Amino acid sequence: MNRIEHIIGGQMTAGSSGKTQAVYNPATGEQSAEVVLGGQTEINAAVEAAKAAFENWSSTPPARRGRLMIALHGIMNARRDEIAQTISAEHGKTHDDALGEVTRALEVVEFAAGIAAHLQGDFSREVGPGIDTCAERQALGVVAGITPFNFPSMVPLWMIPMAIACGNTFVLKPSERDPSSANLIFDLFKEAGLPDGVLNVVHGGKGAVDAVLDHPDIQAVSFVGSTPIAEYVYTRGCAAGKRVQALGGAKNHMIIMPDADLDQAADALMGAGFGSAGERCMAISVAVPIGEETADALVAKLAPRVAALKIGPSTDETAEMGPVITAEARKRIKGCIDAGEKEGAKVVVDGRGLKLQGYENGFWMGGTLLDHVTKDMSVYKTEIFGPVLSVLRADNYGQAVDLINAHEYGNGTAIFTRDGDAARDFTNRIKVGMVGVNVPIPVPVATHSFGGWKRSSFGAHGIYGPEAVHFYTRLKTVTTRWPTGIRAGAQFTFPSMG
Ligand code: NAD
Repeated sequence: MNRIEHIIGGQMTAGSSGKTQAVYNPATGEQSAEVVLGGQTEINAAVEAAKAAFENWSSTPPARRGRLMIALHGIMNARRDEIAQTISAEHGKTHDDALGEVTRALEVVEFAAGIAAHLQGDFSREVGPGIDTCAERQALGVVAGITPFNFPSMVPLWMIPMAIACGNTFVLKPSERDPSSANLIFDLFKEAGLPDGVLNVVHGGKGAVDAVLDHPDIQAVSFVGSTPIAEYVYTRGCAAGKRVQALGGAKNHMIIMPDADLDQAADALMGAGFGSAGERCMAISVAVPIGEETADALVAKLAPRVAALKIGPSTDETAEMGPVITAEARKRIKGCIDAGEKEGAKVVVDGRGLKLQGYENGFWMGGTLLDHVTKDMSVYKTEIFGPVLSVLRADNYGQAVDLINAHEYGNGTAIFTRDGDAARDFTNRIKVGMVGVNVPIPVPVATHSFGGWKRSSFGAHGIYGPEAVHFYTRLKTVTTRWPTGIRAGAQFTFPSMG
């Protein structure tokens, strides 16, 4: 049985906990590996390795750290198929979808390659007689990342390139459900020339997370996962005096105005609702058509397409979506649909019974389309995180905006319309962090930053891009007086430079 181990100080190690967890191929339902589960001992060892590497790494010129990212970019590009296959083998997403994940990760590496420009400081000459001030941003020290299963490569790479390009050293605690991608990421960095100890990988679950949150020498924690855990990580990490950014779950709405191009909107909903089996924090899970006529026409377009979704393993090039991550996830998703049906939603297309010939034990779900969902239903309030699209009919645009603004989540949203007035009002008034106008999945490119509002994100900073430079560094301001010959005499009032 393939065993996935920790990587601490550049060395593979099984750690000392003796605990392991099964890793599955979701397409076949067979166990493909076991992952070792670390705890406090392994986190302590990883932090020691990261601390030992910090001084040299943080004093390496930023341009040289950037050049390592250029090398990494070349290596990742050359091995993109292998990275995608590693993702799909444990996650189940289609090969093309996994390649898209790699492309998005590469964008962050590109941004991190230019880190020298982003770390450039500010300088003010003569803020007082012979006095100059310069402001710079310095690395924090050892920082950690805790990541979810749904982007086993991209989400760690939202964090690691930015954190280490800024001069920090890193401890990654990846998802225990698809852990192989994390070890492959380490190999890629190693091949690019990253010194031992700068990046460490400790596998595990709650025990490893708690050890990260409580460790006094971890300065900052980036978390991406579900909202209850994000809130827990934020609260416990902040209580331990750390800087924490914790990105959580989502319920993303798409408004379809009566003037929208309905074919374009239906295309967008198919991809954004069912791509990656709906296991994306930016998936559209609620379509909000305005008016009965728009709703009837939209459902008529969607229903046959949802029923005809091509579902298959990642090795099937024609597949549009793969299985869900585990048998438990499938059970939970089916439970959400059952509850919605009981509460009065109309099941227009039912994916609960899907069986795939040759893959009878895989974790398959068909696409499900629910109509006449209302805002009081559990199926609307909770994040389903599966291939389920709800249609919630709104009487008018104002009602749709109020609905979205009242939802506890605020990660992504979109409006499909030809009306510039409505689009402009929407982008201004909507209480959501990432907004699309005729763009269903508005994930910002790496030169911007990613982050939701409300209970989709805890902490002040977005992830990657310029916000990451601020998150992974702290400000130092140095005030200098030269020449030393200028005498101001003893000053007992609060000093003003001018
Ligand atoms: P999860 O919250 O179950 O797990 C995330 C991480 O937390 C994992 O590393 C896991 O080991 C750890 N963890 C799990 N339970 C824990 C506990 N009780 N105590 C401490 N740590 C624990 O999330 P998931 O199922 O892996 O990922 C899916 C979720 O992530 C969805 O809610 C999705 O919306 C969210 N997500 C959000 C974003 C975003 O950017 N906002 C991006 C991707 C995924």
